[in-house]
Amino acid sequence: ESTTVVVIGAGPAGLTVANLLRRSGIDCIVLERRSREYVAQRQRAGIVETRAVRMFDSWGLADRVLGGIPYDGILELRVDGESHLVSDDDGSEGPRARLCPQQVLVQKLTAAYLDDGGDLRFEAADVSLHDLTGDRPTVRYRTADGTPRSITCAFVAGCDGDHGTSRTALPAGALTAYSHDHGIGWLTVLADAPPPAHPLLAVSRDGFAAHFPRGPQTSRYYLQCPPDDHPDAWPDTRIWDALRTRLADPALPAGPITDRETFRLRSLVHDPMQYGRLYLVGDAAHIVSPMGGKGMNLALYDADVFARAVRDSVRDHDDTALRSYSQRCLRRVWNDQEFSHWLTRTLHDAGDATALGPFHRNLARARLDRLLTSPTAGRAFAELMTGLDLAQ
Ligand code: FAD
Repeated sequence: ESTTVVVIGAGPAGLTVANLLRRSGIDCIVLERRSREYVAQRQRAGIVETRAVRMFDSWGLADRVLGGIPYDGILELRVDGESHLVSDDDGSEGPRARLCPQQVLVQKLTAAYLDDGGDLRFEAADVSLHDLTGDRPTVRYRTADGTPRSITCAFVAGCDGDHGTSRTALPAGALTAYSHDHGIGWLTVLADAPPPAHPLLAVSRDGFAAHFPRGPQTSRYYLQCPPDDHPDAWPDTRIWDALRTRLADPALPAGPITDRETFRLRSLVHDPMQYGRLYLVGDAAHIVSPMGGKGMNLALYDADVFARAVRDSVRDHDDTALRSYSQRCLRRVWNDQEFSHWLTRTLHDAGDATALGPFHRNLARARLDRLLTSPTAGRAFAELMTGLDLAQ
């Protein structure tokens, strides 16, 4: 069997690559390890930033793939109970960010691709990559009933996330990994409870907390916790008590908790994002700490850059964009890593609950003060939120 691009992984990155290639008239086959039902239910990110909305719009896909609830681009920062509204309105024309839960985006991207006749194979086991530095790489896998299959192609898109197989196919030393552990843990909770008026980030002496809308009657919450904490340490009453204290909202309505997990905040970049004819896209190449909501949006950026580069190569025999793929993506990756790191440090250190101590607490408070009082600092923040203004 043969195709132009084999896409490994049907998360936001892989499905976006597949849809954009299909729109460009380029053949591809998507191999996903899990079942369609499993992938469609995986809940993570919640905001598609302005730049990404306009990217889908430019491909004529925005109305088909973006669901969710309307968003006015306003974020609430609540500092010791005092509310401040921060806008991502940078004055530019065009559609703006959407509150679109990741699983809704994934469901709609899957449906759009299959409706257009796309080839998407779920439950593909033991995917392995071969001859990546030759002219025609081969991807092998087994179908759900164990039948071995082999596909030759011109390019492989490694969209299989941080624990995928693409990166592990590379020889040792082919990529350099830059990693950072923030020394901070988060408990994340999903509940059938009313969403806040605006996505809400709270600084308090008891630690950071956040409350995000995920649907008309569903919310995601985050609570700072020790880096190696276990979810069992957080029974329902402790969660609601901590949220009410840190959000300074004694009347915060509770609801049935449907999921709770703990994780460490970490950041990771692999450089370069390419090896031979394998291109790493999204979390397969980089992890951003969740503060600032950039992880999924970076995956969507990579996918767009990659699909356009393949289109140039296949249609116009021009490989310039493929050659600069890694460099171009990494520029945005580091920009967003810096934003996420800055916001992570600011909102945790300002609360007094980190190990860094009072000096860093006062630095973080000064950064918050500047953000909330200086219009220029506010505009810079809006630019980082929209993801728009990084010169191409
Ligand atoms: P993934 O979503 O990981 O998709 C990879 C796909 O590849 C999966 O379907 C997987 O099953 C498949 N796969 C893996 N291995 C193989 C294999 N061997 N063979 C075939 N298929 C394979 N980002 C934001 O922008 N905003 C947020 O608010 C936000 N919040 C988050 C909250 C949490 C709790 C977490 C964990 C992440 C959050 N992120 C957020 C990050 C965001 O979820 C990721 O950046 C995004 O999922 C990346 O998409 P991806 O397609 O690159 O990878």
